[in-house]
Amino acid sequence: MRGATSLLAPEFADWMLGSMSSGVIAIDTDERVVRVNDGARRVLRLTGSVSEISGRPCAEVLSEQPAAARVLVAALSGQRPLSRAELVLDAPMGQPAQTIGFTLTTVRDDRGGMRGVAMIFRDLTPFERSDEQARLQDRLAALGQMAAGLAHEIRNPLAGMEVVAGLLKRRLADLPDECALVDQITAELRSVADTVSDALGYVRPVVSARAPVDLSALVAEAIEVARTRVEFAGKVVREERGRVDPISADPEQLRAVVTNLVVNAFEAMEGDANACLDVTVEESESTRANIHGVETALRYVVLTLGDNGPGIPDDIREKVFYPFFTTKQTGSGVGLASAQKVVASHGGTIELDSRSGKGAVFRVRLPAEDPHTEQGEQA
Ligand code: ADP
Repeated sequence: MRGATSLLAPEFADWMLGSMSSGVIAIDTDERVVRVNDGARRVLRLTGSVSEISGRPCAEVLSEQPAAARVLVAALSGQRPLSRAELVLDAPMGQPAQTIGFTLTTVRDDRGGMRGVAMIFRDLTPFERSDEQARLQDRLAALGQMAAGLAHEIRNPLAGMEVVAGLLKRRLADLPDECALVDQITAELRSVADTVSDALGYVRPVVSARAPVDLSALVAEAIEVARTRVEFAGKVVREERGRVDPISADPEQLRAVVTNLVVNAFEAMEGDANACLDVTVEESESTRANIHGVETALRYVVLTLGDNGPGIPDDIREKVFYPFFTTKQTGSGVGLASAQKVVASHGGTIELDSRSGKGAVFRVRLPAEDPHTEQGEQA
């Protein structure tokens, strides 16, 4: 009768809660936390063990997540509990925002009296990220077809014009002023050709060759390349925090991403005597995601580049990742858009944390190991 014994065990409810991957937090009518499980502690970033949290006021336990506290307390007031709603959690400075999908249940005693409210929730962030990536890939596919057709139509006449300009220059060999004008035409034609190539480069599907990549070594190389492109007299402080294993990635593509981020930072700080770029590489804590129905721990390697340049004003923060958005006179505006595309194709994300006047922080998160790779199988 082992089964019957375990069913009667008073701890059974706690075991059950502890084994659930969903987060559960319940409060009583005095707004005190009665039950919380590990899933809730992890997603809501609660400090203290389950037993330390239990019994404390909800507002205190959820002081870092006031929106979640408000939702719970509002449900106590007898309003119809929400089923299947979403909430964006407050993230600590520099951490990506998290979204949870939750259901609220009124807890009633045997006589139907209300005794509290329970919130059951899941972290939706991994799903949102992959949705975002899928949307980006769709947009790029449509854009790619159009751009490839357009590029063909533009490049051929451009090449023809360049040949004609060359012929013209030869005929005007004795007239230096006219020759200079023809040179201007040729330079402009090349600039249009470059723009078309950039556009095509951006929309072309990313084909990645995977190899083990030591991100810290790659960062050092990218900084060297960036120095050949921008004259930068400031400081670069590099740090690898803890042990970071090689990741499976396309080294060429990743080097281009990091070089572009470093070049942007150098350009933003050009001429500043106190310029400093902080670059760190570290592994982030595991987050849990439900991949194809399997609860999987995801580890990320995080590359952070923080400069102390002018930063990026709020009104253009979203736009910097749009293709062809640039605030530079000679910029192409494809650097960050391409970086986002490459990082997304590696299953990662790139985020910007910046306020006008306070420098820019770009954070690239790349999976530490391919979640689709079976253990023991080569990536
Ligand atoms: P480009 O460098 O050709 O302009 P990007 O896509 O690399 O294209 O960057 C887009 C825009 O983002 C830049 O024109 C600039 O306004 C802004 N930007 C990027 N990185 C930084 C940075 N570190 N500091 C300030 N602004 C930046």
